[in-house]
Amino acid sequence: MEMVNVKINGIAVSVPKGSTILEAARAAGVEIPTLCFMKEKNEIGACRICVVEATGARGLVTACVYPVTEGMEVQTNTAKVQEARKTTLELILSTHEKKCLSCKRSTNCELQKLCLEYGVDEDAFAGYKPQYELDCSSPHLVRDNNKCILCRRCIAVCNEQYVSVIGANNRGIDTAVGSPFNAELKDTPCISCGQCTAVCPTGALTEKDDTDKVWAALADPSKHVVVQTAPSIRATLGECFGMPVGTNVEGKMVASLRRLGFDKVFDTDFAADLTIVEEANELVERIKNGGTLPMITSCSPGWVKFCEYYYPDMLAHLSSCKSPQQMAGAVIKTYYAQKMGIDPKDIVSVSVMPCTAKKFEIGRDDQSAAGVPDVDIAITTRELARMIQRAGLNFTALPDEEFDNPLGEDTGAAVIFGATGGVMEAALRTANDWLTGKDNTDIDFTALRGTMGLKQASVNIAGNEIKVAVASGAAAAKVVMDQLKAGNPAGWTFIEIMGCPGGCVNGGGQPIQPQSVRDTVDLKAVRAKALYDQDAAMAIRKSHESPVVKKLYEEWYDGFGGHKAHHDLHTSYVPRKKY
Ligand code: SF4
Ligand code: SF4
Ligand code: SF4
Repeated sequence: MEMVNVKINGIAVSVPKGSTILEAARAAGVEIPTLCFMKEKNEIGACRICVVEATGARGLVTACVYPVTEGMEVQTNTAKVQEARKTTLELILSTHEKKCLSCKRSTNCELQKLCLEYGVDEDAFAGYKPQYELDCSSPHLVRDNNKCILCRRCIAVCNEQYVSVIGANNRGIDTAVGSPFNAELKDTPCISCGQCTAVCPTGALTEKDDTDKVWAALADPSKHVVVQTAPSIRATLGECFGMPVGTNVEGKMVASLRRLGFDKVFDTDFAADLTIVEEANELVERIKNGGTLPMITSCSPGWVKFCEYYYPDMLAHLSSCKSPQQMAGAVIKTYYAQKMGIDPKDIVSVSVMPCTAKKFEIGRDDQSAAGVPDVDIAITTRELARMIQRAGLNFTALPDEEFDNPLGEDTGAAVIFGATGGVMEAALRTANDWLTGKDNTDIDFTALRGTMGLKQASVNIAGNEIKVAVASGAAAAKVVMDQLKAGNPAGWTFIEIMGCPGGCVNGGGQPIQPQSVRDTVDLKAVRAKALYDQDAAMAIRKSHESPVVKKLYEEWYDGFGGHKAHHDLHTSYVPRKKY
């Protein structure tokens, strides 16, 4: 590889030819501020916060797109550079609705941080200031264009998801992010993934906040309030409290939920195990009875919505199993309600999820096993963190506590649901035991691990080679679906698809890390490692060995895929029109 020698603030560094100044600076350990930049996703040099002085260049240049040349000397922090950045920030603020005191992104806002660092005068420029209505039309997010800085990160990730329901409307000072024909988001084929909310540097895109509903339920003595937490939350919640990425905080998470006042703290993991046994049974039935193959997982509501909008003629490939969130809700409102002697109408079932699409999922049809919604309120990891902060809990100092039983028991197979490939690996562990009739010990299907968008493997199960695929992110899902339309040349039998790149650990409701961290830390891999480490240390690592799953089929359900299980744990899908 041809290298180029440059100096960044006097620090000599050698980088591959074609590198940008920003890349060279990072290699030299020098941070240059950015706002619009997202590595390999949004390299448009639009915001001009990253300007620097460089020999051979005329005037200031944008470090995120300007290539280094041999012998170049770059200064990243001169008086001229600082003044230019400060002026740019003041111009941004001239059209910005500055409501930091009540903004959800306050203290975690990349614009606010830069304004503080550069000592800006927030009223330096006054003039025409467009006013925008909030778009609160969809159940999962709120768009406030009054706080938008037109960095276009959201547009880049929505395009990356192969959805592209947002773009820049109008021109000049009236330019605003919106949907075609200024449609409300609910009237577009948005898949509710929330990836745009996770990359927005400001408070312009936020998850719809449902925490007030939870507080109201907790304050109502006539309600029995139960919470479940998805597998990935334990690997991410700590980030909201300054803990290193990849810290597993399961015990502190449970302790915090108990102190918030939930009557029971359950683990969605038990329902992930339930999903595996129902799904494995469905796959075997399809193989035996000539059902639609390959079968595709249905745990991810973002993926399900993508399939409904973009491949409505292929819905028969989807497993009819509800997602673990909905299965847990169904069990809570049926089995648990009866055991406790509580009317399901008096239970408020709350979920803590990595994903804003879960807010959409709880309102879907055919998700009410007991005649009332399986889940009443879905909040994200970020919303739970705000509740913990509002309650004044010192999260990092909390003791470790355990989930309530029996719906708090899990297996290693369930824990890895939070990472792309985890559902497939969990399913294969069970299928391998069932089809060989053995308690196999070689259960790590490592070919399915890793953060690649599309992974394929041929696995030997009871002497048969089974071809499987794992896709995460809607763009990878599109590749898979186009292959199926072309006749499934790879011969896949079973496919796992998750709507968010990397799976739930990178869901749209997960903690927001500044782009400088997202550019340099593989969040998907580090968060997933926390789950795989937990799995490896667990005594029970197969879903069909879960004590709670065994108990449910002994006491409640009439066999895998039986009538009662089918009524409570399975669902249906609807073809949707894009516009
Ligand atoms: S987006 Fe940032 S700068 Fe704007 S009001 Fe919110 S916290 Fe303040
Ligand atoms: S939620 Fe997902 S699909 Fe919808 S606008 Fe955001 S990135 Fe696009
Ligand atoms: S909504 Fe957020 S991510 Fe999208 S352009 Fe505006 S500031 Fe950038």
